[in-house]
Amino acid sequence: CCVLSPSPSNLTGKSAPSRVMDSKLPCDVGDHKLAASNLCGTVLSVDSLYSFGKKGKGDKSHPDTVPCGKAIWLSSPVAMEAAGEDCCVKVAVHIRPLIGDEKLQGCKDCVTVVPGKPQVQIGTHSFTFDNVYGSTGSPSSAMFEERIAPLVDGLFHGYNATVLAYGQTGSGKTYTMGTGFRDGCQSGIIPQVMNVLFSKIETLKHQTEFQLHVSFIEILKEEVRDLLDPSFLSKPEGANGHVKAASPGKPPIQIRESSNGVITLAGSTELSVSTLKEMAACLEQGSLSRATGSTNMNNQSSRSHAIFTITLEQMHKVNSACNGNSGLDGSMNEEYLCAKLHLVDLAGSERAKRTGSDGMRFKEGVHINKGLLALGNVISALGDEKKRKEGLHVPYRDSKLTRLLQDSLGGNSRTVMIACISPADINAEETLNTLKYANRARNIQNKPIVNR
Ligand code: ADP
Ligand code: MG
Repeated sequence: CCVLSPSPSNLTGKSAPSRVMDSKLPCDVGDHKLAASNLCGTVLSVDSLYSFGKKGKGDKSHPDTVPCGKAIWLSSPVAMEAAGEDCCVKVAVHIRPLIGDEKLQGCKDCVTVVPGKPQVQIGTHSFTFDNVYGSTGSPSSAMFEERIAPLVDGLFHGYNATVLAYGQTGSGKTYTMGTGFRDGCQSGIIPQVMNVLFSKIETLKHQTEFQLHVSFIEILKEEVRDLLDPSFLSKPEGANGHVKAASPGKPPIQIRESSNGVITLAGSTELSVSTLKEMAACLEQGSLSRATGSTNMNNQSSRSHAIFTITLEQMHKVNSACNGNSGLDGSMNEEYLCAKLHLVDLAGSERAKRTGSDGMRFKEGVHINKGLLALGNVISALGDEKKRKEGLHVPYRDSKLTRLLQDSLGGNSRTVMIACISPADINAEETLNTLKYANRARNIQNKPIVNR
């Protein structure tokens, strides 16, 4: 049902304008100096048009609309309003209920939510986040409306975004994101994103042409696997915990950065989709590719990051009168907009353990997932505004995960981290670790920065 489209195809039959997600170009406009660290997914209007300001499309006098040579850029206040946010990273906690085994073992609830506050207590520790969902916090159903829907809106304004589900294995990451084929998580974030996306497109399709692309990859042991590779789809039961081989002869997938800072994946499948059903099929097929027979804490899916990426391209038709021309000839110009949303089901945050041949578990010691470590450092660096202004280096290159997310983390991109936790006392130690990591992502100003 899906059409293979290795590169963004054109929207109108004419040659498509190049994607502009330039993060490097400084730009002087009157008193404005636009040198944002990362203006990803920024508006480009073809033929010197004006971008979509919130208070009026193409309004030349609008203070948020800043011309920059041929490209027209949205300045950050509009972007932030559009995305409904005013800060780089939002952190929410999602507490799942006690589940089967925990109940059978008679586990007690060891996590308390302070009534009326987004504050979580465990033992003597107390943490405040942007939101707390589940258990006695806000209902889980509110999470999508409050945290995710604004990112989907931002996508239509050209702003990249990333949603990260973090937590130990079994804490509900896959359930929350909806990347678990076997769980049939229809209420997960990704299925809800798809619903909102397609209903919005339906309402806008008369004035705008849309094109959607989907990719679904997994990063395991610093190797990128294409979950939409047809060779995985044909043998979904896979190899019980072993890394499945890519198509024979297929070169490994590589993360590339263009001269203007746009990150692309060379060699991975990017599918062009035009219906909700097609996009849902991609999610299902990729989730199936990811599934393995094994269910223990060491299984492959618990050690890999799964990244479902939706790219939205838009071509708006605008009457040239909006562009300062007379418009009397009724001529139309086109505005092009492109942005992507990464939905990430991260690897389990517990330290890797392995089972010895005699069945005794022993610690591997030093092995902490490289991506999670780098992600924590990148988010810390991004959150330290003062150091960023001083030209602090953000260590994106320290892992494949952070490299891949580079143009969608920080700058004008919106990032939401959902820290998933189990309330069970047997998981208290890992729950505390998760809350500390999430707290570090939010309260980054006072924390040390790793600068390499
Ligand atoms: P993870 O991906 O973090 O390893 P899962 O999403 O697979 O964890 O969840 C572990 C188990 O808990 C699954 O059986 C799942 O169905 C259940 N679960 C997770 N979150 C919830 C929730 N909010 N409500 C009910 N069950 C949940
Ligand atoms: Mg999972």
